[in-house]
Amino acid sequence: MYLKKKGNIFHTVTFRLTLWYTVLFASLALSVFFIMYITLTSNLSQRMDANLLNEAKEFGELYRTSGIEVLKGEFERETQSEGINRMFCRLFSPSMETLASSDLGVWANLDLQQSILEGFSNKAEAFKTLSIPGYEYKARVIYKKTHDGNIIEIGYTLRDDEELMEDYREIFGTAMALMLVCGGLLGWFVARRAMTGVERVTQTAVNIGKGGFAYRVPLGNEGKEIENLAMSFNDMLERIESLVTDLKEVTNNIAHDLRSPITRIRGVAETTLTGESSIDEYKEMAGIIVEESDRLIGMINAMLEIAKVDSGIADFSKTDVDMLKIIKDAYELFQPVAEDKGIHLEVDLPQEPLIILGDCARLQRVIANLLDNAIKYTPAGGKVLLRAKTAQTNMMISVIDFGVGIGEEDLPHIFDRFYRGDQSRSMPGNGLGLSLAQAIVHAHGGEITVKSHLGKGSTFTIILPRTSFQN
Ligand code: ADP
Repeated sequence: MYLKKKGNIFHTVTFRLTLWYTVLFASLALSVFFIMYITLTSNLSQRMDANLLNEAKEFGELYRTSGIEVLKGEFERETQSEGINRMFCRLFSPSMETLASSDLGVWANLDLQQSILEGFSNKAEAFKTLSIPGYEYKARVIYKKTHDGNIIEIGYTLRDDEELMEDYREIFGTAMALMLVCGGLLGWFVARRAMTGVERVTQTAVNIGKGGFAYRVPLGNEGKEIENLAMSFNDMLERIESLVTDLKEVTNNIAHDLRSPITRIRGVAETTLTGESSIDEYKEMAGIIVEESDRLIGMINAMLEIAKVDSGIADFSKTDVDMLKIIKDAYELFQPVAEDKGIHLEVDLPQEPLIILGDCARLQRVIANLLDNAIKYTPAGGKVLLRAKTAQTNMMISVIDFGVGIGEEDLPHIFDRFYRGDQSRSMPGNGLGLSLAQAIVHAHGGEITVKSHLGKGSTFTIILPRTSFQN
């Protein structure tokens, strides 16, 4: 599928990996070949030179002890046994006059070279590699001075060495071709195996693109990296799926929650159009419209605020805020409300200030939301307690009520946007207060938790890090 989509096999990672693999394989094999080739040639040439030198020394010695005639006989014998096209021997004077030589055969075309003599005038011997005119193979030649100043020349064909190297090159060429084919196939296999995992991810993405959110990448055994990729991809899908579900839920909730105030506004507006009402009735209707509009604005503002805080784009002022003061202010603000409802509001606070680096207005909102809920969900005659404690690195603020409590099935959802518990349907509210409180607490690096039992009451606890100047 992936290949089909791309259209060109040369653009696939599999092809490129295979190519790299093959090139690497070939370069390594070539390097090994060259090292071996150079070593072998140098060994062969050293061996040849050592043999030539030995031979030249033996001839020199024979010439010194037995004279030119014996040397000549030895030249013949030696070249006959080696083959006259493989070896030749010669003795010549410093003036380049040949004094004795073996049967020259192909070597006859090889001129004596003055330059060679000049080249080794100070040395006892010299080596040369020469091409013989009209002969396919090269020859290695030694020139060695004799005791009386003449020069012994021995030449040996390099035919064996050259043939050996030729065999070596042929064997290597065949081996190299085989290795390239095997290397390429192996590379292709390895790359394909690795890439099938990636293709599975692609296939899953394509399926999801067609709308099947339930698809997941099946795990294979191509190796840890591919497995990690598949698992991360599946995790990401899990997260996206839950976000999409949340989004759907939130959208449904928004639609639902916006519909009732708008329907009410519309109904009232319709009455003003159709009915014959008194001025006071019109005023009352306008009041309802204002009230419902305020509810809508409040809800929209809360939604925007949660979205801003959650996504981290909210403008947070960072000052030293005393949470103790915020709690006391909230206590004073809500005291009359609690009293009106017949609820006993109590505080249990430490002496020293509770300083946190944060946004004062938003932290006030957190405490106000929790306290408002506690009073709202506690029947008349009940009690609400505000408690704060400090620890080494953080502070703990609890809003405890002995009211209606939260059912077990509601408990995991009460921090969700727009979620309203079963007990609260009859109460005013929009299900955004706790989400906003949680978003603000998280933005301050804190945690908010709840413990509750139906009919017994609830305890909301905030843990905030202390960044104080009081220590
Ligand atoms: P609202 O109070 O506007 O419905 P919240 O986000 O503040 O929205 O709370 C979400 C839900 O959590 C409420 O609908 C209610 O069911 C439950 N809840 C919150 N605080 C309390 C409380 N102190 N006692 C009982 N239930 C509570």
